[in-house]
Amino acid sequence: MIWDLDDTLVVERPAAEAAMVATCRHAAAVLSVDPDQLEQDVFDEAKSQWSSLPTIEFARRVGIASWEALWATFEGPGEELGDLRAVRLSHRQAVWREAIERQTTVDPHTVEKLSERFVAERINRMEAYPDAEPVISQLQPEVPMAIVTNGAPDTQRTKLSLTGLDRFSLPTVVAGEIGIGKPSPEPFLLALDQLGVAPEQAVFVGDSVTRDINPALNLGMAALLIARHPDDPHPITLSEGRCNVISTLHEVHQYLSPRMD
Ligand SMILES: [Mg+2]
Repeated sequence: MIWDLDDTLVVERPAAEAAMVATCRHAAAVLSVDPDQLEQDVFDEAKSQWSSLPTIEFARRVGIASWEALWATFEGPGEELGDLRAVRLSHRQAVWREAIERQTTVDPHTVEKLSERFVAERINRMEAYPDAEPVISQLQPEVPMAIVTNGAPDTQRTKLSLTGLDRFSLPTVVAGEIGIGKPSPEPFLLALDQLGVAPEQAVFVGDSVTRDINPALNLGMAALLIARHPDDPHPITLSEGRCNVISTLHEVHQYLSPRMD
């Protein structure tokens, strides 16, 4: 059994959005800005400035999202993470400055404080989905499990430690540590190798059809798509019979039970 991390086991995009809302409300208390507009402008600036950095090829290859670059430390091995560490503060401050300056003028000290505030707001929102811990706990005695996640080493490992999911000590492949992420086969194969399990015996659980489900199926694994909300996009391209759609992780146990003797 291999798990995706972001928005499968831990709350990622909703937590980033909530941290952005909180930071922009604070900005509106100290500057003459509309917080909703600022929120949109910060996400826009983050995306466009992240794409124009010389590090974008690596960031795309390992799946580091532009909003994650606003709180990542980029600690970890390799020259590429070193390049990101070298620009991380100037990048995140430029994003906040340009976004604010779409509405008003701002001094460098306020920019620095707001960019730091977003980091704190994001770190204060480290949360596993309520079904993650009980399901992993229930399966762990019988089922070998690993995690495969895209992203920077520090953000992904921080999510595991601050949600408490690290207590299960699951082998964890972080794309930023091996230099390549999903949907490439390498991180899947590395996790399978660490578990000593053949793809045909393994199940992948994730929330992305393109990054989790299709590559897992292509390797011969079974796959479960977690779609927690009724309006999540329906996976019309999934191979018949080899992928089930679930709405809570508790269904993983029901899926596995008849297959475990
Ligand atoms: Mg995910």
